[in-house]
Amino acid sequence: MKRIDPLPTNLSPDALLRSLGITEPRDIDIEAIAYYVGLRVKRRCLKCCEAMITGLGNKGIISVNPNGMPQRERFSIAHELGHWAHHRGETVACRATDIGKFSKTNNVERAADQYAADLLMPWSMFKAECRKHPRLDLKALKEVAGIFKTSLTATLIRMIDSDTYPASMMISHGTGGRKWHRSAPKMATWWFPREELDADSFAFELLHNQNQDEQRFPRKIGADAWFDKASAARYEITEQSFQIPGEGVMTILNLDPNMVG
Ligand SMILES: [Zn+2]
Repeated sequence: MKRIDPLPTNLSPDALLRSLGITEPRDIDIEAIAYYVGLRVKRRCLKCCEAMITGLGNKGIISVNPNGMPQRERFSIAHELGHWAHHRGETVACRATDIGKFSKTNNVERAADQYAADLLMPWSMFKAECRKHPRLDLKALKEVAGIFKTSLTATLIRMIDSDTYPASMMISHGTGGRKWHRSAPKMATWWFPREELDADSFAFELLHNQNQDEQRFPRKIGADAWFDKASAARYEITEQSFQIPGEGVMTILNLDPNMVG
């Protein structure tokens, strides 16, 4: 009689990686992990959404839009695995705007995003990579994203959250202005970026002149270009901005250490 392995009951990202013996970023094969927990992955054009999951009992199918961006597909599949772990028994369809945005208002989508980040960029492996880069800049970001095969946005969010860079902040801008920002966990909340981009900032040039190359090195700029607070005028910070196709312009700020105590 053929033995049927029971499905793993603990689907936490750490437990899954442990039970599969995965200790290196390159071994995080998201489709193999999905298969291990009873899910097949299909690529097909979905009109309604970016990815979805349908399940019956302990088996299910993840469908994902083939959009030519493997990093994005990986995150979408991992996000659906998050729904499988947290919201089993429901059919969930996720729009592109639901995935990877760490929604502050939608708890279901945020939980799936957090699960995806924990599975694709486990803290123990991720912090070890961050420690190889004393400074958070675009070069460090690209190297870490390359190792984990994750998008620049998802990787940068994780680097900011990692507690490795206490003076770093990321800010996303679209043509309509500032979309969102995220600061190192212990940074004081009074360093809240301006609503509008300063015309002196490189991000402004990038946003209004689509042909600009990315900024290869961080550039020094007065902190008052980015912050309204009166004391900002006393400090110098660094900025580095780059395009995120389809999203807008992302900026990494590194504040003066005296600004964050
Ligand atoms: Zn979702």
